[in-house]
Amino acid sequence: MPRLLIIAPHHSYRIAPYINAAKQLGIDITIASAGEHSIISVINKGLHIDFSDQQQALLEILSAAEETPFQAVLGTDDMSVALAASAAKALGLMHNPPAAALIARRKDHARACLLSAGVAVPAHQRIELGSSIPAQLEELNYPCVLKPLAMSGSRGVIRVDDTDSAQLAIYKIMTILREVEVADEAEAIFAESFIEGIEIAYEGILANGELTTLALFDKPDPLNGPYFEETYYISPSRLSEKLQQQVKQTVLDACQAYGLRQGPIHAELRIDANEKAWVLEVAARTIGGECARLVELVTGQALEKLVLAQLLEIPLPIIKFQAGAGVLMIPIPRAGILRRIEGISDAKAVSGIEELVISVRDGHELVPLPEGSSYLGFIYAVADSAEDAEFALREAHRKLTIVTAPVFKLSPALS
Ligand code: ADP
Repeated sequence: MPRLLIIAPHHSYRIAPYINAAKQLGIDITIASAGEHSIISVINKGLHIDFSDQQQALLEILSAAEETPFQAVLGTDDMSVALAASAAKALGLMHNPPAAALIARRKDHARACLLSAGVAVPAHQRIELGSSIPAQLEELNYPCVLKPLAMSGSRGVIRVDDTDSAQLAIYKIMTILREVEVADEAEAIFAESFIEGIEIAYEGILANGELTTLALFDKPDPLNGPYFEETYYISPSRLSEKLQQQVKQTVLDACQAYGLRQGPIHAELRIDANEKAWVLEVAARTIGGECARLVELVTGQALEKLVLAQLLEIPLPIIKFQAGAGVLMIPIPRAGILRRIEGISDAKAVSGIEELVISVRDGHELVPLPEGSSYLGFIYAVADSAEDAEFALREAHRKLTIVTAPVFKLSPALS
């Protein structure tokens, strides 16, 4: 039985799907995580590492591998892909260069790398928070997008049209940056020109530098800001075959620029009015969260199974599903305390709806973008065409009523 080491933060929602995939493929797995107090036995009984000391974590992984060798090492999240790459390299296993795995985490480094390789990325610059901000805002070409150097899920990503809105956005982003733990990630805010156009998401897998497309998703709702909430992902893409090829080639060019050769690739691109594809993100990981389920609806195989099969060179056929499939990441309608969600049964009963998952509990505080980061849940649809899948999702969403109560915060002077 092949043995695989999975490195993951202990709270990662990706662990469970990987455990299931490994079981189905007959792979023995060990989880390396910081979860010595975890109630999940596979984490509790796994290897306990401290992510804040990567050198020590690497040594512990290598010494565990001496006792019982692994055939592959996988990192599940932005946090762990570089450590996994270093461990796999030291063990002589299939790996990406550790620096390549890490680069997508930092938007400034990633953009600089792609620009010098001639890949189309928006014009960009850093706004140094230690220098005069108004002077730097005067130099920007508007409209542009301001964003943290290293965050995800569109948190703190704000479109601005002039210096006044830019100044307000900078204040908002600086508040969000207070929680950043890596000091140099809070030293600057990234600014780049706003690319007008449609947006798509690309999922693929690299094997020895060769890229296979798993799915291409249209995002049918216009994303013009000021905040950029993800909502609908619909497959198959309605882009022309020629544009789909251009998207794939652009993603491959970006992978080559980073030096990536193996494993899952998640990318977001914009296509402008001249049909030019611009890279917004190319990352050495799978699509976030529950959306991975959508890849299974499109390929007939769980995404995690495809990733493990590639790593361990197990042949696994992809059965391309030509009909329509889609997901709606249920948006947070307003800030407040979630009281209840009405209409769930009616939404599930809409023709084409596969599944509806609510991931937030009653009583939780809902925080919309740009400060917040999560969705209320996910609705999946399968239908005869992309249009029908999108229609089913819109219908199901219309059936939901999200009841919230306002949050009353007592100021210390009053309490
Ligand atoms: P994150 O990594 O937090 O998801 P991104 O940089 O991918 O942040 O931006 C999130 C979303 O904001 C994108 O999916 C896109 O809709 C929008 N966006 C970001 N940068 C640009 C840009 N330069 N032009 C147009 N839209 C952008």
